[in-house]
Amino acid sequence: MKTLGVVVLAAVGLVCACVGGVAVLAAVLVATPAVACAVTPLDDVTSIETPTGTFNQEQIANAAIIVAVGIEMNVPVRGHIIAVATAIQESRLINLTTAYDHDSLGLFQQRPSQGWGTPEQVTDPRYASRKFYEKLLTIDGWESMPLTEAAQKVQRSAYPDAYAKHEPAASTLVSAVSNGSVSCTNYAGWVQPVIAPVWSGFRTAERPAHQGVDLGSPRNTPVKAASAGLVVWAGCDTSRWYHCERDGSPNTPGCGWYVDIKHPGDIYTRYCHLNEAPFVRVGDEVMAGTVIGRSGTTGHSSGPHLHFEVHLGDQSSKTATDPVKFMAEHGAPLGRQG
Ligand SMILES: [Zn+2]
Repeated sequence: MKTLGVVVLAAVGLVCACVGGVAVLAAVLVATPAVACAVTPLDDVTSIETPTGTFNQEQIANAAIIVAVGIEMNVPVRGHIIAVATAIQESRLINLTTAYDHDSLGLFQQRPSQGWGTPEQVTDPRYASRKFYEKLLTIDGWESMPLTEAAQKVQRSAYPDAYAKHEPAASTLVSAVSNGSVSCTNYAGWVQPVIAPVWSGFRTAERPAHQGVDLGSPRNTPVKAASAGLVVWAGCDTSRWYHCERDGSPNTPGCGWYVDIKHPGDIYTRYCHLNEAPFVRVGDEVMAGTVIGRSGTTGHSSGPHLHFEVHLGDQSSKTATDPVKFMAEHGAPLGRQG
């Protein structure tokens, strides 16, 4: 039945075209997420394998504390990854209570002589994590910096380039200790917006102006934010005569109900043809996996599906990039399952 459905829709020619309208751009990412993750107990996990090594129960428990404190402080997931990568480099995620290098102590090798706190304080993983985040949050633009640069601005290490190599491991650990693990954030902080087959590709020969991919999700499928970011548009792509009050058609203009999210690094994602008004509003900060609406067929669309776009730099059609390639490179390949 599934195969038949795909064939029939392909024959009909699924259409959708997206916005000409310019969405409102927010200048900065706000630091108050509307949604947060919670930490799940990891009682039965004795080790976690990452792309760059294996971590034991003690190390995992420390990563969980770092993430938990980040969540309590409303630090976006990117900050959790930076903190865990830093702690891997500084202490291998072991709370070092003896100083080997000057008076450096604890998970982040913070030095009491440099004002980080007393030896007792900096060897308390919760205190140490809080101090790390407090410093990180004072750095302008930390969310869009390479991990090494952000970590170095907090740590002022003699080996500033050492942090980056831990990013894959840190991402895996953060994912593993976060609520719902992979649904909250995955290896690189990206998740599939829907798990559905790719029905129509990016800028194909037949549709060179198709700036995204069509994912064959049935009506009312929850649509998830592909990564953490700020909602910069949530509403109807209104024309003179169409206001998303009913399903669209091949003769209807625009994206229908849709959402644009700005992610760190000036990456934008767009989600079109939602069934009804989005569940998020402009200014909301979302996590990877936050449900932003349900798929439908409003706007220029011949049947329920999700039209998904990725843009690098701004939201114009010029900057659209192939979402299949982009998501595969970010650990969340589209269309794996039908
Ligand atoms: Zn489309």
